[in-house]
Amino acid sequence: MKKQLILSTALLLLAGAALAQETKEYPKPEPMKPKMTEFWTPQPAIVTPGDQATCSAPSDAIVLFDGKDLSAWEKQDHSPAGWDVHDGVMTVNKKAGNIQTKESFGSFQLHIEWCVPPMGEEFKSQSRGNSGVYLQNMYEIQVLDNFKNETYVNGQAGSIYKQTPPLVNAMRAPGEWNVYDIIYTAPVFKEDGSYLYRPRVTVIHNGVVVQNNTEILGTTEYIGVPKVKVHGDGPILLQSHGDPSPAISFRNIWIRRM
Ligand code: MG
Repeated sequence: MKKQLILSTALLLLAGAALAQETKEYPKPEPMKPKMTEFWTPQPAIVTPGDQATCSAPSDAIVLFDGKDLSAWEKQDHSPAGWDVHDGVMTVNKKAGNIQTKESFGSFQLHIEWCVPPMGEEFKSQSRGNSGVYLQNMYEIQVLDNFKNETYVNGQAGSIYKQTPPLVNAMRAPGEWNVYDIIYTAPVFKEDGSYLYRPRVTVIHNGVVVQNNTEILGTTEYIGVPKVKVHGDGPILLQSHGDPSPAISFRNIWIRRM
């Protein structure tokens, strides 16, 4: 009986202590106010946008081709770019070979317009206006006339060549101008030479998203699988493809570093 009394008393004391703890007042966080999640600095730089109708360059862009000359371009051996400039456009000179920008770039936003001339139906698949935009001289975004021209899908216009097909086919007909807006995030490498972060690319073709922040697996290889090669900033390279079709043209090329 005595034992029971002691036990009951102990339980009562414990319950009392627990109750006291529950009712003890601690400081409460300040109530959130709108200003607590607003910051004012640094203010983003002011950029004057280009003209929307003509896709002209914004004020902070580097103009790579404005229709007048190839002063921003060179061959891969650093000799003068030998493509033909006429009527505000540059046309591939297949004898001159690839050309690349003199400047190198990391992550960027690139605007480039291209036009495949009308040609006969004897030119098919990859032999119809083949060119390409190489990002950092490593990764090709395919340029090709795929208006009613089928080819392997990871080699058609808007593909990351031999890797990822475009989400849709947004081609304009031969003779019309196609527009690429390419948003590219450069890779980061580990010390062992593998990717810590792979390169990524968004491609908008004639206003239509065809690559959505797609991971690039490695270098563009015609034969074999992509390779991982350590690199830093690199030029934009435009391909002079050896296909027998009439040469394609480019115009209005500008880039913004990011
Ligand atoms: Mg190509």
